[in-house]
Amino acid sequence: MHHTPLIAMLVGGICLAFVFGMIAQKLRLSPLFGYLVAGIVAGPFTPGFVADAGIAQQLSEIGVILIMFGVGLHFSIGDLWSVRKIVIPGALFQVLIASSLGLLLGWLMGWNWGSSLIFGICLSVASTVVLLRALEERRLLETRRGRIAIGWLIVEDLLMVLVLVMLPPLAGLLGGDSPDSASASSGDILRALGWTLGKVTVFIVLMLAIGRRVIPWILERTAGVGSRELFTLAVLAIALGVAYVATAVFSVSFALGAFLAGVMLNESKLSHQAASDSLPMRDAFAVLFFVSVGMLFDPRILLEQPLAILATFLIIVLGNSFCGFIVTRIFREPLQTQLTLATGLAQIGEFSFILAALAVSLGLLSEDARNLILAAALLSIIVNPMLFVILDRWSARHGVENRLAAESSLKVDEDDPLPDRATIPPANHIIVVGFGRVGSRVGRSLQEHGLPLVVIESSRDQCREAREIGLPCILGNAVSSDVLKDAHLDTARALLLTTPHSMESAAIIRLAREANADIAILARAHSDDEVAYLHKAGADATIMGESEIARSMCDSVESLVRLAQRLEKANKPPDADAVPAEILPV
Ligand code: AMP
Repeated sequence: MHHTPLIAMLVGGICLAFVFGMIAQKLRLSPLFGYLVAGIVAGPFTPGFVADAGIAQQLSEIGVILIMFGVGLHFSIGDLWSVRKIVIPGALFQVLIASSLGLLLGWLMGWNWGSSLIFGICLSVASTVVLLRALEERRLLETRRGRIAIGWLIVEDLLMVLVLVMLPPLAGLLGGDSPDSASASSGDILRALGWTLGKVTVFIVLMLAIGRRVIPWILERTAGVGSRELFTLAVLAIALGVAYVATAVFSVSFALGAFLAGVMLNESKLSHQAASDSLPMRDAFAVLFFVSVGMLFDPRILLEQPLAILATFLIIVLGNSFCGFIVTRIFREPLQTQLTLATGLAQIGEFSFILAALAVSLGLLSEDARNLILAAALLSIIVNPMLFVILDRWSARHGVENRLAAESSLKVDEDDPLPDRATIPPANHIIVVGFGRVGSRVGRSLQEHGLPLVVIESSRDQCREAREIGLPCILGNAVSSDVLKDAHLDTARALLLTTPHSMESAAIIRLAREANADIAILARAHSDDEVAYLHKAGADATIMGESEIARSMCDSVESLVRLAQRLEKANKPPDADAVPAEILPV
């Protein structure tokens, strides 16, 4: 077989990530942990398959670009603004304290102050990927504490973008030993810093002045062509193209370039489509990012430096959490918010890895230090979901969760445009899952007929639409027994699945059957195979979208033909019927 390291890395990385991701999921750990373990298995420090590190590194950069593009697409100034008073000072305080603790630890281990400082900063920034997952699972995104947590991370992310940009010109000052930085004088450093900041400013100004118009325009024109493939390509071309130009021309990091490309798009009406189109690519490459990080990890460090790992881990878990807890306490947020934020901040992830990689390449951080960061990060990612479970149990025992869930759905503060939720019917009602093209029509019709119903919808915009017409709508994913419980599934009469994904529908059907064996279930399908699959999962009836379209088209054709015949008759001269058809004038 010829030498194909790229294919080997892609295939090996994705297959191993799949296997270990599944194992992690089964063990109720974050799949992220599985991807990191897959990386360790594919790495040079364990026997067996060894992927090409250089290629892994490049693929992971694509992951970073797409992750940051996604962060930009969802970056909402409005959400950030509503919690600015707490998250800006809070995140700055937390980064400062955690970095200082890291600096102290580095200094105690005999590192120079530059390395110690970078090490500290690496420990201070929580992973957006890990936190978003935890919040989503618990339906906390729409609550105030969810917004505080996300706003907090956005401030941290922006700080890190700044650090990434400043690090190369400052490398000399911080004691880096890369060829560029070793011999730099302070004048050189200032000049380099000014030059970098100048280029970054030009890039940002250009993006704001030109990109903000051109990028949505390109996307809208592409959407007008009507080809889904070209639209997806346009989204990828924008994300990758802007990131590449940002790096090649303006020396801005891939991360910042992609983030700004996302922000430019986020006001466009097509941003949701862009986000969902880039999602599969983003997921695949984000996974490769974690695999490539795992590949760098040398497990021997666990035996060689257990105390250093423990200290690093404690800074991440206790230092960051404590800061989050204290700040929210000072701002008199409810106890539940204090604890959620403290738990959410008790881990580090992608940004620490990106920063550590850059610092290693600039000679600012040793491989050992990076290994320490990786080991502690791995531990924190394993422990974090467990901490959330402990928090959930504690909340359930104290009845806080229910009270808060009720509060968050009833309370509408001026920054949260989601209207109040109407009361969910206690029994004999219909549960409608999805409020898109199909569900909204079904919901309105049931409402007109005065039937009691509750809607479950995962998109915030659709949920708002349902609530605006007075329907009780739960914002959340119906593939969760908690969400179904909230909809009073055990006492409901029927469950209508109007969502298009049959795999998800089947999972919902199984959960529903477990909780309520008698409920009538009607599901939407798109093919004969799906119909069979949904029936097997427990659906009582299915509606295949395409056959209904065909039936409606046939009905329409029949009435069209009848209409044409009537018109033809009406236009004919009175004696035309008497003339044989073949001699009628054309
Ligand atoms: P449509 O295909 O236009 O009828 O839209 C389907 C709707 O279902 C969209 O608004 C989705 O946000 C929503 N949806 C899809 N999957 C789920 C799910 N698992 N739980 C709740 N809502 C969902």
